Amino acid sequence: MSETAAAPTAPLRARAEIDLAALRANVRTLRALAPGAALMAVVKSDAYGHGAVPCARAAVEAGASWIGTATPEEALALRAAAGLPEHIRIMCWLWTPGGPWREAIEAGLDVGVSGMWALREVTEAARQAGTPARVQLKADTGLGRNGCPPGDDWAELVGRALRAEAEGLVRITGLWSHLACADEPGHPSIAPQLTLFREMVAYAEQQGVRPEVRHIANSPATLTLPESHFDLVRTGIALYGISPSPELGTPADLGLRPVMTLSASVALVKHVPGGHGVSYGHHYVTPGETTLGLIPVGYADGIPRHASGTGPVLVGGKWRTVAGRVAMDQFVVDLGGDEPEPGAEAVLFGPGDRGEPTAEDWAQAAGTIAYEIVTRIGTRVPRVYRNASV
Ligand SMILES: *Cc1c(COP(=O)(O)O)cnc(C)c1O
Repeated sequence: MSETAAAPTAPLRARAEIDLAALRANVRTLRALAPGAALMAVVKSDAYGHGAVPCARAAVEAGASWIGTATPEEALALRAAAGLPEHIRIMCWLWTPGGPWREAIEAGLDVGVSGMWALREVTEAARQAGTPARVQLKADTGLGRNGCPPGDDWAELVGRALRAEAEGLVRITGLWSHLACADEPGHPSIAPQLTLFREMVAYAEQQGVRPEVRHIANSPATLTLPESHFDLVRTGIALYGISPSPELGTPADLGLRPVMTLSASVALVKHVPGGHGVSYGHHYVTPGETTLGLIPVGYADGIPRHASGTGPVLVGGKWRTVAGRVAMDQFVVDLGGDEPEPGAEAVLFGPGDRGEPTAEDWAQAAGTIAYEIVTRIGTRVPRVYRNASV
């Protein structure tokens, strides 16, 4: 994790400012949209690049009662470092054989279990720990990724889990699933997934499972599908103020505020004649006499190389475009004759209020989704936290 405790005094090459007040406001907005459900703040992959510890703390301050991660290592690190109140539950779901089941049980984590191998391993670890494991059985209701298929597989998993519960080795705390196309409202897969989820939950409950929480909604479902909220919503991208897809509207349309602002200090400004090739491969050639600005971030910092020739940057109040290739550590913009001072601020993306591009603009420029833009910002870019205290 890349936490920077306080705003630095020295100018930085590049920085990702993280506005924790915006994150708290997003949590409150999402909770208001799902008033009957608890909120899980999904902080996997270092909170989508925003910093897991400060984001988890801020989400809890604003009313999240669950924290979610993909890997057990992420969840264990948060339990150890985040100083979250004991009653805040932490769940992780991406397990592989031989994973740290015993540590997870001893840390009181909730663990997602999608198949028999995982149930066997967690049960054995619980026997050794002498403490029951909090197990959440995951149904594959149509995503076709992780999760237990319906039918005989589900019957076997539920039956074995109930036997382990009767032996005091597990407590089945949840039944859950994940949606394939919630970011495409009205997609024909959504209603059948919800129907199958209800059926698989009903089957487990008929067999005797008494889950504390049933859940299937991610950010887009939390925003658009009240019938998917059940007892808990698992929100990731929306916490960070990013729209799950342009189809759902802008963050502002959704009442969300982007949390990350990525900026860099202009490292060099120079005059060049027309016909001057720029950056590796000379894929940009100056159309006439102009000025070039050097922006000292590159693909090693998470700037997509696919945004070569297309990525937008605000410099001196104007949008400029990546000229030629994004290199490992730097790229160039054509400043059209303007001469900002070296050290001037170049804003790659942020909320957009100062006229800067957004993560969504970069996603479009790179042919990807805004999730990937923020998540890939590398550890070489310091995170600078704003509004850390309530
Ligand atoms: C990442 C993830 C989420 C959060 O998804 P968003 O679209 O970012 O809200 C929820 N559930 C699971 C299982 C996930 O892997």
